[in-house]
Amino acid sequence: MTATAPLHEVQPQSALFESILELIRRTSTQLPDDVVRAVTDARNDEEKGSNADVALDVIGCNIVLARDSSLPLCQDTGTILFYVHTPAAYDQLTFEEVATDAVRAATKKGYLRQNSVDSVTGKNTGDNTGPGSPVFHFHQWRETYVEVKLMLKGGGCENMNAQYSLPHPDLGGRDLKGVENAILDSVLQAQGQGCGPGILGVCIGGDRATGYSFAKEQLLRTMDEASDDPELAALEERVVEKANQSGIGPMGFGGKTTLLACKIGKLNRLPASFFVSIAYMCWAFRRRGANLDMQGNVTEWLY
Ligand code: SF4
Repeated sequence: MTATAPLHEVQPQSALFESILELIRRTSTQLPDDVVRAVTDARNDEEKGSNADVALDVIGCNIVLARDSSLPLCQDTGTILFYVHTPAAYDQLTFEEVATDAVRAATKKGYLRQNSVDSVTGKNTGDNTGPGSPVFHFHQWRETYVEVKLMLKGGGCENMNAQYSLPHPDLGGRDLKGVENAILDSVLQAQGQGCGPGILGVCIGGDRATGYSFAKEQLLRTMDEASDDPELAALEERVVEKANQSGIGPMGFGGKTTLLACKIGKLNRLPASFFVSIAYMCWAFRRRGANLDMQGNVTEWLY
């Protein structure tokens, strides 16, 4: 039996670097098919020539233009979020270094606009890296390959995120009705800002930090993936239906398309608290992924 090779020998930097760079290019310039389908279907529901129809048409043109010219879908690069599953003993530090280098290279190539600034001075770092950028969420798993998913989450829609603590005097108690009211209130507060139509990721429970983080992770689900909890699946549908009756519409211009989807998950909570955390994603819903072998080569593109 041969000795196990050191991890740096089985992960040549170049293959991993090239794979992550291509993942960034695809994520920044090509919306996933399920999102494109949702935007197209929504446009078909709007009255021809209405403000909503025009807004969704412009969004559709933007999607095609970005894809065909390999240019960013939006001037806002967004928070660069990597979600990575690795086998036990995989060298996550090397992955982080290589992926950060790939972000620098992607910025230089124009796949990502320079959009990360020092929080106090406002000075642009010039390459989209710095404290907290990019963000890495690592998890180990028992598979023998690496799965990496990338989400670029815009700042405008991030501003529309909301967190509620139930019971709430106007929204209700610690039950699914209270949760539904909280989610719908966040949509009403947004009024199409954050570049709607929106897609919501929601977490019921957790603490304030894990709730927001888990809400964002719900956005890794595809548009048509319903919760496997029948009560939450019904709530997801109900929220979209009711939000779309609000008349807010794309960009707040009026119309039937206020939300494209709502994805709800739950975490355990303490008896003393009941948070509803809502991550609001804009129409520029950039998420892509890939499975990688241990050398860093793409074996399958996801989404
Ligand atoms: S919220 Fe989304 S669509 Fe709006 S500017 Fe930011 S990334 Fe672009």
